[in-house]
Amino acid sequence: MAIYFDAASQTDKDGDDPACHGLVHDVDVGALFRQKTAFKSLNQAEKLNIINNHFRPGEDYAFPKVFMNGCNRSFQRSWQQRYPWLVYSKECDGGFCLPCVLFAIRESLCTLVTTPFNRWIKVSKVCGEHEKNRYHIDTMVAYDNFLTTSRNPQKTSKFKLKANAGSRLRETDKL
Ligand SMILES: [Zn+2]
Repeated sequence: MAIYFDAASQTDKDGDDPACHGLVHDVDVGALFRQKTAFKSLNQAEKLNIINNHFRPGEDYAFPKVFMNGCNRSFQRSWQQRYPWLVYSKECDGGFCLPCVLFAIRESLCTLVTTPFNRWIKVSKVCGEHEKNRYHIDTMVAYDNFLTTSRNPQKTSKFKLKANAGSRLRETDKL
């Protein structure tokens, strides 16, 4: 597996692979797939690096157009507002659900997780259905927890200590 993380935390003995020189910007999940990255075995820092530094097309980025159902079509930046988990892979010209790529634990995963989504005319169907999957919903909870603990570990552990020490509302109080 190529090392594409902070050079300071890795000892680069091979030296020849350009991907081994602390490339932390414009990480592309599609490229990582091609490198046969074992996402499940990545550590916390590695996952956070992918999340923080994944390629984000700028306003002037020209998405490749593909002729599909009578029109030239391409990935639309506005989809990422509708589906905040959607990342665009320049390498694949396709979309992925980044949280599911990194955290989904179900084995039978498909488009948006193990293969890029690129049937642009089907965006509402494919992304809409993906969002309703139980594994995606569970993954989003795990993803949010991961971000909270990774980005602010001290606050989280303090909060947990306080929460455990203090008296908690009884379940019946919620009703
Ligand atoms: Zn997902």
